[in-house]
Amino acid sequence: MEMYSGHINKLIEELAALPGIGNKSAQRLAFHMIHMPKEKVNRLAKVMMEARENVRYCQECYTLTDRDICPVCSNQKRNHNLIMVVENSRDLAAYEKTGKFEGVYHVLHGAISPMLGIGPGDIKLKELVARLEGDVEEVIIATNSSLEGETTAMYISKLIKPVGVKVTRIASGVPVGGDLEYIDEVTLLRALEGRVEI
Ligand code: ZN
Repeated sequence: MEMYSGHINKLIEELAALPGIGNKSAQRLAFHMIHMPKEKVNRLAKVMMEARENVRYCQECYTLTDRDICPVCSNQKRNHNLIMVVENSRDLAAYEKTGKFEGVYHVLHGAISPMLGIGPGDIKLKELVARLEGDVEEVIIATNSSLEGETTAMYISKLIKPVGVKVTRIASGVPVGGDLEYIDEVTLLRALEGRVEI
């Protein structure tokens, strides 16, 4: 005999498939949703659909944005010759929150991981190389200090050094395996200021 109604089971199943949500959390969320006013559930569903439909990659830095060119890239006061490479839009947001970085970004949407079968072709690397055809003075690699992040940093360095662009790596001091978005602003700034050429 099924414990819950088919609809509840289906909802639990969908929620449990989301990252970071185990079966228990999925059950809790499902029952919470069943008891929410219908308008609220409608709004939630609508916001999810709208985000999915309208969010796209910035044509320059590939961060997730509502516009063709994101607010950072379209800001002419930013230094467009200084590009910080990050793994995802959350890392970009973490650096933006410090308010101290004047350059622009490049979002890879992942890191190279032979173990997970993620190769250089699976992240936005050729898009980065294409940007170097413009006037770029320095590329700061701010991938995470995880094995994947370091592998990616080394790969990028080898890839763009021959182009003649200065390549730097943010200082460690960022906890190993730590996601950039969880690190406080002071540590982020120290890592940025202490970057070294690689
Ligand atoms: Zn952008």
